[in-house]
Amino acid sequence: MHIKNVEFIKSAVKPDQYPPAELPEVAFVGRSNVGKSSLINLLVNRKNLVRTSNTPGRTQLINFFSVNSDSFMLVDLPGYGFAKVPLDVKKQWGPMMTAYLSKRETLRGVVLILDVRRVPSQEDIQMLDLLRAHDIPPIMVITKCDKVSKNERKRQAQIISKTMQVQESEFLFFSALSREGIDGIWGALEPLVNT
Ligand code: GDP
Repeated sequence: MHIKNVEFIKSAVKPDQYPPAELPEVAFVGRSNVGKSSLINLLVNRKNLVRTSNTPGRTQLINFFSVNSDSFMLVDLPGYGFAKVPLDVKKQWGPMMTAYLSKRETLRGVVLILDVRRVPSQEDIQMLDLLRAHDIPPIMVITKCDKVSKNERKRQAQIISKTMQVQESEFLFFSALSREGIDGIWGALEPLVNT
């Protein structure tokens, strides 16, 4: 995918704050610190388009970005499992996500990001259940692959596959450090955002 430009459109909590549903859209989600910002920034070739979790605020909102002069939309969904987030913000997360996933008619797929070194959490499993319940195709990305050996990656993929009840063949392996996997991820996203 050739990225000509990316523009931050707006942040939203509720559906009436979303930008008009006019463009095909893919969203990104995962537990805080999983590497979501790094992945999005690399996909669109921008160092700091998406802020990392070290900068709270915008990270607890749904952030909409228009790509290639309104060809499609990328959406950065708030990460989950962040201990430092205030309780009222945590309580907001569930309804915010459910509303987005159930009401956004232009949503074509959600990239669910997992850490190669971790056993998926209950929240990761619930996230995938939520996607399935709303018939939203999940794109399963395993990131930080530079942190483990090839053998370790294989072992972890088996564990993640078992925990998430997802075939290993569905996993896309990625590293923001080595840039491994970018083409594969765009390969999965392109058919979804093509109008
Ligand atoms: P977010 O909270 O999910 O948006 O996660 P970030 O993108 O902010 O990443 C969290 C931390 O993990 C940062 O210190 C990143 O530099 C680091 N990180 C993210 N992706 C990778 C990766 O693929 N490899 C390595 N080694 N570190 C990564």
